[in-house]
Amino acid sequence: MLYHLNKAGFEAYLVGGGVRDLLLGLHPKDFDVATNASPEEVRAQFRNCRLIGRRFRLAHVYFGREIIEVATFRAHHDQGEGEGHMENGLILRDNVFGNLEDDAWRRDFSVNALYYNIADFSLVDYTGGMQDLQNRELHIIGDPVTRFREDPVRMLRAIRFAAKLDFQLETNMAAAIIEQAERLSDVPAARLFEEVLKLFMHGQALRTYELMREYHLFKYLFAETDALLDSHGAYLDPFIRRAMVNTDERIRAKKPVTPAFLFAVLLWGPVRKRVELLQEEIPMPDALRIAGDEVVSEMVKQVTLPKRFSLPMREIWQLQARLEMRRGKRPWRLLENRRFRAAYDFMLLREQVGEPLTDLCQWWTAFQQEDEDGRQRLSRALPGNRPARKKQSSTKKKRAASPVLANNST
Ligand code: ATP
Ligand code: MG
Repeated sequence: MLYHLNKAGFEAYLVGGGVRDLLLGLHPKDFDVATNASPEEVRAQFRNCRLIGRRFRLAHVYFGREIIEVATFRAHHDQGEGEGHMENGLILRDNVFGNLEDDAWRRDFSVNALYYNIADFSLVDYTGGMQDLQNRELHIIGDPVTRFREDPVRMLRAIRFAAKLDFQLETNMAAAIIEQAERLSDVPAARLFEEVLKLFMHGQALRTYELMREYHLFKYLFAETDALLDSHGAYLDPFIRRAMVNTDERIRAKKPVTPAFLFAVLLWGPVRKRVELLQEEIPMPDALRIAGDEVVSEMVKQVTLPKRFSLPMREIWQLQARLEMRRGKRPWRLLENRRFRAAYDFMLLREQVGEPLTDLCQWWTAFQQEDEDGRQRLSRALPGNRPARKKQSSTKKKRAASPVLANNST
C-alpha cells in the first residue's frame, strides 16, 4: 500500500495509533496512512477504495477484511489550500491540505504525530512525540484551550489515550479539559456515538470510566446516569465498575464485547429509577418497556444510538422481567432467546451489587447446566403461582454462591 503510493510518485507514511502502539510494544489495532496524494488521487490508485466523510474527507482502502484509512496531509486553516470552515473556533470542515510538517502540527497529541517512512525506515517527529512516549505523558500539540475549542472530541480522546496507554495527562491540558468540558455539548450526537464506542472497547474501560467522571466529561455522554451517580452512587457506581471490569477481561481474553450490553449497563440507572416510579401503576414487563423507551429517547438527544444497538439493549432490559417469570414452558422458551445469555449476565451483575436476586440467579445457572430431567425437576420445584417480584430497590447485600460471572460468554 505504502510502496504502491511511493511508486506512483507520492509521499506516504504510517502514522497515528499504529506507529504509537508499535513503539510502545502494544498490538496496533489498525494502521493509518498519511500522504500528499489528494483523496481523489488515492482513489485513482486503488480499485478497492472509497472516499468517506465530509467534515474530514479521507480514503478507505480495503484489503480483505482490513480497512486502511488514508488521509491527505492537512494544514492549519490559515495556511494550505482546500476547504476549511470554522465557527467560533470550532472546526466544521477540515479539508485544508498541506505538507508533512503542517500535517504533524494539526494532529491531536504528540504521540499520535509520529510518522514512519517505509522508504528509508526513518521516523519523523516534529512535535516531540518520542520524548513524550518515553516519559509516558500525553501532550496535546499547541495550546490546549484552542485545540479543544477547535474540536471538543479531543477531550474524550485525551481520556481514552491516557487510560488505554496508562499515560499521565500533561497538567495544563488536564486543567483545560475541566475548563472546556462544556463544549462537548456542541458536538453532534452521531459523532459522540462513534467516540463512545471507542472509549469503552480498548481494554481499559474501567480506567476510562474513572477518568471520565474525574474530569466531568461523563455527563456530556450520559447526563441522567451521571446525575444518579452523584445521588445514588452506592448502587450504580459498583454496578458500572463491575461491568467495566468484565468488559476489560473479555477483551483481554479476546472474547467479543457487544456495545449493546455496555449501553444497557450505562443506562440501567435511569431505567431502574423510572421502573420504580411506574411500577406502582403498571405491571412489571410493561413498566420496563416504557422506562426503556423513555430513557432511549432522552439518550439520543445527546448521543445517537443506532437501532442495531438500542434494540438488543432494550431486549436485555425487558428480559430482566421475563427471567423472573418461570411458570410452565417459559424457561425453555427463554433459553432459546438470542439475548438470553446477555440478559442472564446482566442479572448476575445486578445481583452482585446487592439486588435480592441470589435465588433467581442460582436457579438460572442450574437450569442452564442441567439436562432435560434436571430442568423438569427445577421447574417442578418452583412454588406454584409465583407472581413477578415486586420492588427491586432493596439494598440488602446477599452473596451468590455460584462463581458465575467468571465464565460468562455472551
Ligand atoms: P486508535 O488506536 O484508537 O486507532 P488513533 O490514534 O489511531 O488511535 P484514530 O482515530 O484512528 O486514532 O486517528 C488516527 C490519527 O489521526 C490520530 O493518531 C491523530 O494523529 C489524528 N486524529 C484523529 N482524530 C483527531 C482529531 N480529532 N484532531 C486531530 N487529530 C486527530
Ligand atoms: Mg487508528
